[in-house]
Amino acid sequence: METKTHLLHSAKVSNNCPECYSTEGLEFTFSQEEVENKLYSKAKGDILETLRCKNCQQVIYPVNWTADIERVYNYNRKLVKPLGTGMKLKPLAYILIIIDALFLGAIIYYLNQS
Ligand SMILES: [Zn+2]
Repeated sequence: METKTHLLHSAKVSNNCPECYSTEGLEFTFSQEEVENKLYSKAKGDILETLRCKNCQQVIYPVNWTADIERVYNYNRKLVKPLGTGMKLKPLAYILIIIDALFLGAIIYYLNQS
């Protein structure tokens, strides 16, 4: 199993950073993890949300958010379009299904011969 992280949405925020008070460093990122193996891939249901300050390199946790930051968060959260969490089959899975079907077809064919 391999895990890939997809960046869904990111937004620069002009609010003051609660750590260094810079108004230029804050950025929200919304991402989603997808696990995959040789046969299929499937996105996880939860969205990973991070507020990070590029100025002081700190991750700002929701407990330290101001009301303004929360408002910007709520706005950006609505812009996020999550990946569907359905299972997506890979070409190898289809090949195996086809081989299976051919194999089954061959058995039925031989059974009908006798
Ligand atoms: Zn900062």
